[in-house]
Parts: sequence; C-alpha cells; structure tokens
Amino acid sequence: MQVCEIFYSIQGEGQEIGQPAIFLRLQGCNLRCKFCDTAYSQEIKKKFEISTDKILKKIKKFPAKHIVITGGEPLLQQKELIPLLKNLKNYFIEIETNGTIKPIISQYVNKFNCSPKLSNAIKNNLTYDNLKSFPKEKTIYKFVVNTEKNIKEIKKFIKTHDLPKNKVFLMPQGKTTEEIIQRSKFLIEICKKELFRFAPRLHIMLWNNQKKI
Ligand code: SF4
Repeated sequence: MQVCEIFYSIQGEGQEIGQPAIFLRLQGCNLRCKFCDTAYSQEIKKKFEISTDKILKKIKKFPAKHIVITGGEPLLQQKELIPLLKNLKNYFIEIETNGTIKPIISQYVNKFNCSPKLSNAIKNNLTYDNLKSFPKEKTIYKFVVNTEKNIKEIKKFIKTHDLPKNKVFLMPQGKTTEEIIQRSKFLIEICKKELFRFAPRLHIMLWNNQKKI
C-alpha cells in the first residue's frame, strides 16, 4: 500500500472528535482542492510503499482500538485495504473520504466521514453520483465553509442528494488557528439558525496539521 504516514493522536473533527485514534494516511488523491491541508499526500511516491504486515505491526503498537484511515483519498486504495481491514475486526474503523469513489469496503467500516468538495474548493463541477452508494446509517457529511456564500450551495447539495440534516457538519475553512477561530464564530451562528452541526478542526488549531508520532 502507498502510505504517507502512520501516527497516534486524537480525532480532531466530526462526530468522533476527541477519540484517541491511530491515523493511517494513504497517498494519492483524485482531486486538487484549493484549501487542501494535506497537499503532501496528494501524489503517490513509490518509495513509500509498505506491506500490510508492516502496517499491522505499527498499528498494534498503539493502545487505541480506533483507526482513522485518511489521505489523500483512501478509497483509491480500497482493494489493497481489504486484507488489512480483515485483520482489524476488533477496531473501530473510520474512513475520511471526498465521496467521489464508490465504496466496496462498507462491511469492514464503522463510519464514513464524507467531505464533498464544493465551489470554494474546486473549480470544475464534480458529480457526486457515488454518494448514494455510501450506507446512510454509517455515513456523516462534512462541509468546509469559507464564507456565508457557501451555505446556499451546501443547502442545495444536501437537498439534491437527500442527505439527513442531522448528519451534516459544517467546519471552518482555514490553515491556521486564527483563521479557524475567526470563521468558527459566524459558522456557529449559521448552525444555530439552520440546525446543522458545527465541528471545529482541532488538528489544525493545535498542531497546524503536523502532529506525527
Ligand atoms: S480531497 Fe482532501 S486530500 Fe484530496 S485535494 Fe481535496 S482536501 Fe486534499
């Protein structure tokens, strides 16, 4: 598998925020978002290929039984993930995905954190036909918000794709603590009015997204 990094931290966003978790960040992404906070994981570099056995060994050194598989876009390597997931049956498995790729590993996954990218992230209009293939009972939806203008687009998107509003999380766009805090304040007011859920991005606020162990 093409791995970018494996580290131990806490989940910094979404429904499982605060949960001690092992992060397995895979290389390669099919998108190039403007605000990508892990641009170093977008390209696949062969020298970072690691066997499933080695990954398992690393994972088992950490005390938590909770894994966040992220990227890049981890579903690009979902076939390769299957042997690993079969060996992690007593772990809670979260997948962070942009939602553009049809999942074939749902049976091994406890939670999909789908983060569709809208016009503040990417120029071309993406089609999200594969979103309906994610099991609704296991999926939450996260949107990164820059300004109030994004809210109209998010509301249209959740209507088009029939997403349950109580599973929609709005998160502030930003690459620094200051930017996250500044955008959180107006976003919380929007969540109170529209009944979306607010989620901060602790990993950026605390470690500028660079916490690795
Ligand atoms: S989908 Fe995620 S990893 Fe890929 S470019 Fe966009 S923000 Fe970065």
